[in-house]
Amino acid sequence: MILFKHPKDITTFIVNQSIERNSIGFVPTMGALHNGHISLIQTARAENELVIASIFVNPTQFTEQSDFEKYPSSIEADIFNLEKAGCDMLFLPTVADMYPNGSLPSRQYDLGRLDSILEAEFRPGHFQGVCQVVQRLLDIVAPGKLYLGQKDFQQCMVLKKMISLLDIDTSIIICPTQRETDGLAMSSRNSRLTPAEREKATYLFRAMQSIQEKLREGDLAQLQRNAQEILTKQGFKVEYVAIANAHTLEIIQNWDGKSALVALVAAYINEVRLIDNLLLNPPLQ
Ligand code: AMP
Repeated sequence: MILFKHPKDITTFIVNQSIERNSIGFVPTMGALHNGHISLIQTARAENELVIASIFVNPTQFTEQSDFEKYPSSIEADIFNLEKAGCDMLFLPTVADMYPNGSLPSRQYDLGRLDSILEAEFRPGHFQGVCQVVQRLLDIVAPGKLYLGQKDFQQCMVLKKMISLLDIDTSIIICPTQRETDGLAMSSRNSRLTPAEREKATYLFRAMQSIQEKLREGDLAQLQRNAQEILTKQGFKVEYVAIANAHTLEIIQNWDGKSALVALVAAYINEVRLIDNLLLNPPLQ
């Protein structure tokens, strides 16, 4: 695996080797890699001649400075695991490399309601920061395909919208959420959980499963409340439990029994904020 630190080196390499955009699969990450990230690399490996990953903890997408500062890091293990999964190149820039003119966003992305609901409501400015960093990464790497995890459901929708707004020639491939055997979605933040918190964390998935099991046409308010209660009883500080249209993220109160639904949750266990989601009925086309 070749390691690049400077944007211009990676761009020069791609140009000099005449590597075509369509042969590049790209997996952006913030490091502290787990099998969820590695599954993206494996999918990209199977579909592209060249697989590029990036590790960059982007300061502009954090709403809490302490969350940014405590973000886990395991760079040596990450390099080992990327290489093992067949990744060809790793881009490992510094903040100064990524934002040579300062990290204040130079543009606003018109994300519509995606920028005010669910994650955006509780993390204002988060998706502007995500768009800023991914636009910059796509400029540097110029991939034909961008691999994202369904784990960050709203982020996938935001990035689809950004790519369409800016008319970027990259397709998005969404890969399924990888879970631990007890259902907890893999996340870099899980490493911050104490053993007792880790045990409770599995209730995020159980709460969403409770919605899925009892899903019926009609009013969904009770299902939503029950799921929220499961979490509060376990001591979570719940930010949201929502049932939404899986294509538009419109919150659904009264279900027609047909449209594709997704349950989405965000909650704190003590200091650690976790998110998860579950498609409730037939998968997205
Ligand atoms: P992050 O390092 O958290 O920014 O995540 C990098 C990419 O990995 C994003 O596209 C995430 O959605 C994806 N990802 C994170 N956790 C998982 C998981 N458990 N399963 C699948 N993809 C994931």
